[in-house]
Amino acid sequence: MLLRRVAAALVAVFALAGVQLAGATPAQAAVKVLYYDASQAQEFIAVVNQGAQIWNARVTNVRLEPVTAGRTPNIRVYADNGWPRTYTTSLGNGYWYMGREAVNDGYYKPRIAAHEFGHILGLPDRRTGLCADLMSGSSAPVSCTNPNPNATEAATVNRSFATSATVAPSAYAWVG
Ligand SMILES: [Zn+2]
Repeated sequence: MLLRRVAAALVAVFALAGVQLAGATPAQAAVKVLYYDASQAQEFIAVVNQGAQIWNARVTNVRLEPVTAGRTPNIRVYADNGWPRTYTTSLGNGYWYMGREAVNDGYYKPRIAAHEFGHILGLPDRRTGLCADLMSGSSAPVSCTNPNPNATEAATVNRSFATSATVAPSAYAWVG
């Protein structure tokens, strides 16, 4: 009877320790929230929000949220007549342009928005020509309407934020 009680107490102690250990692992780390400012994205504000929601639906370690008053955004989004392009300063930080050059060529706007956010989230261009790849960008046909990261792209982003990966400042253009 005493042995049983000791065993039960030990199980309880290990269970408690287990919870604490699990909480310390990178996979259980708090979700990183990145704030983006789409107020200067002109006619593309809605599609910028859509691009953020696409990522939020597919990754767990980072969330893209519209910036609130008084807070400095991690990400600023602009619009102009050039190609869509992104300038990153570090993982999760930088700015990007929704460029009308690609929109007017017929590229799918939600795919452009999710792709450019992908750069901010640490993914480089991979010009595979495949519509199934988000980071194939303009190498996929203009007719490609897939706005979603594939499983590998989403897993890479989750891993980068779980480990706070170091990403060198970079510039990416939709066509280049
Ligand atoms: Zn790109």
